[in-house]
Amino acid sequence: MRRVFREPRLVVASHNAGKVREIGELMRPYGIETVSAADLGLAEPDETEATFEGNARLKALAAARASLLPALADDSGLTVEALGGAPGIYSARWAETPETHESGGRDFGQAMQTVWQKLEAIGAPEPRRATFVCALTLAWPDGHDETFLGACAGRLVWPPRGEKGFGYDPVFIARGEESTFGEMEPERKHAISHRADAFRQLVAACFGG
Ligand code: IMP
Repeated sequence: MRRVFREPRLVVASHNAGKVREIGELMRPYGIETVSAADLGLAEPDETEATFEGNARLKALAAARASLLPALADDSGLTVEALGGAPGIYSARWAETPETHESGGRDFGQAMQTVWQKLEAIGAPEPRRATFVCALTLAWPDGHDETFLGACAGRLVWPPRGEKGFGYDPVFIARGEESTFGEMEPERKHAISHRADAFRQLVAACFGG
């Protein structure tokens, strides 16, 4: 049975500052205070599932059980049509290099370049279609969860444009738009993104619309 969210606070089960900020902004209108897994010193579980939904559930349940608070996790990434859906669930991993691996950091300049080089190598036709996907799981410490899948379709461009977003934002233009997510004001991105799509479903189901 669907469970409605009635608590004043939840843990954002992520150590990714860009995602924590976006989720905090999306939750604010509902008067829900957010605290990040990093702030609580929670360990980051290994993402061992093969789907966005599987990894979102795994992260949210781990954080809810460890903190004894409800937890919200996002597993997201970029799926590129001509690359058979890659990098997909490995979107963050494509930004790891031997140097960044040691520091725990990521190099998205390199990840975007890898995507583009692979498209060039196979002579992928324009438009180079891609979809951002976001699975959101709200989990409770007793093991109940609600999971939703959102998407935002568009195309990739080169070179990267704009510094407002994070990750692959500078090379992605959503359908019907002209600016990349990196050039767009955050309010506009929040209205049309994959995360916004999953959020609308979560809000309708668990926050009483
Ligand atoms: P994970 O969900 O933490 O495994 O990582 C998802 C990765 O997908 C992020 O590190 C970003 O590279 C990428 N990603 C997810 N959502 C967005 C977005 O809204 N903009 C740009 N990149 C994103």
